[in-house]
Amino acid sequence: MRKPFIAGNWKMNMTVASGTKLIEELKPLVKDANCDVALCVPAILIPAMKKAAEGSNIEIGAENMHWAKSGAFTGEISADMLKDYGVKYVIIGHSERRQYFGETDETVNKRTLAALEAGLTPIVCVGELLEERENGKTEAVLDRQLKVGLNGIEDITKIVIAYEPVWAIGTGKTATDEQAQETIAYIRKKIGELFCPKCAEKIIIQYGGSMNAGNCKGLMAQPDIDGGLIGGASLKTDFATIVNFDK
Ligand code: PEP
Repeated sequence: MRKPFIAGNWKMNMTVASGTKLIEELKPLVKDANCDVALCVPAILIPAMKKAAEGSNIEIGAENMHWAKSGAFTGEISADMLKDYGVKYVIIGHSERRQYFGETDETVNKRTLAALEAGLTPIVCVGELLEERENGKTEAVLDRQLKVGLNGIEDITKIVIAYEPVWAIGTGKTATDEQAQETIAYIRKKIGELFCPKCAEKIIIQYGGSMNAGNCKGLMAQPDIDGGLIGGASLKTDFATIVNFDK
C-alpha cells in the first residue's frame, strides 16, 4: 500500500561536474526501480542536476528552505524559488541544521507548513541524540519533535518523515533492523494519535543513518520502514544498490 521512497542527501558535497557525472551513471542503474527516487542537492546545484536528471525517474530535491515568501533573509532560499526549478521534495529539520544552524522544532514547523502551502513535499527529519537514547528519552524526544514540528498540518500524509537517530548519521553506526523498526513503529503510532489512524497507515516513514548497500535489505524488510534518507552512500553509485533493494 505504501510505495517505498529512497532519497539521497548530498549535504555540502559535489560540483556541477561531479554531480552531473554521478547522475549520468545512476540513471540507467535506477531506471527500473520499484520505489520513488530523489536526490536532495545543494540549492546552487539544483538547475544543473535537474537538467542532468531530465527524462529519468530521479527527482531533484532541496536540502532546506526558509518559511517566508520573500524578504530580508540574506542567504536563504524560498519555496517559490525551489518551485521555479520544478523541485518536488525539500528536507526540513535535518539534525545538522538543528546542531549547527540553530534549527528548532518551532522553525521546523514554520518551514514544513510553508513547504506544504507551496505544494512541496517536506521530508521532515526527527531523531534522538545518543545520550537521549542511552537515558531512555527517545520516545519523549520524538513526542516533542512530532507534536511541535508537525503542529497545524491539515493533511499529514502529504509529508514524509525521516527517522534519523543522530548517533547513526555519518558515523557508520547504523541502528539495528530491530531498533529502527521499533522506533519507526512508535512514530507511526504517535502520528495516529496526533492526527488519524488511517493517516498513520498511509504516511511514508524513512530510516536514515549510515544506510548503505550492505545493510539496506535488512532495514527495508521491516514492516514499518518505507524507505531511506541516504547521506554518504548517495555520493556514489552505491545509491543505485539501495534503490534496487528489492532485486
Ligand atoms: C543523512 O545525512 O541524512 C544521513 C543519514 O547521512 P549518512 O547516510 O551519511 O549517515
